[in-house]
Amino acid sequence: MTELNQQTTYDDNNIFAKMLDGDIPYHKVYEDDKTLAFMDIMPQAEGHVLVIPKQKAVDLADLEPEYAAAVLMTSKKVMQAQRQVFEREGVIQMQLNGSQAGQTVFHYHVHLIPSSIHELGRHAVTQADNSDLADIAQKLLAVIDA
Ligand code: AMP
Repeated sequence: MTELNQQTTYDDNNIFAKMLDGDIPYHKVYEDDKTLAFMDIMPQAEGHVLVIPKQKAVDLADLEPEYAAAVLMTSKKVMQAQRQVFEREGVIQMQLNGSQAGQTVFHYHVHLIPSSIHELGRHAVTQADNSDLADIAQKLLAVIDA
């Protein structure tokens, strides 16, 4: 049987925890008391955003109901902004649970990707240009705040 490199306990030093602590930079799209949304640094399509709860959850199994609701409401805001900014209806909502599913960062997060299942780029492979990410974040942020 294949041995799984499964992480079940929350690591306070994971990269998204460090973002929430303000220890590493990111391109913010939206923030409220329970969630944070920011640009994925290795996007699978232009405008790929991640939404995370301000709760120490490894994956869906750990997510508390109030944070689950908050992540969903923030995801709706982000998706509406993506539709407006990219002038497209199609946005993929994706979320991976466990390394076997391909999860690489063990703080629960929802991917929102303006793409199609037929065109989706490879997962977490190619780093985007920092200034492009900053530009897109500003456009999405402006629409969400409007
Ligand atoms: P997953 O494999 O579902 O856990 O997704 C983790 C995502 O985090 C991938 O899409 C990565 O491109 C993204 N990612 C990793 N490090 C960073 C970072 N420093 N800033 C923004 N996104 C990141």
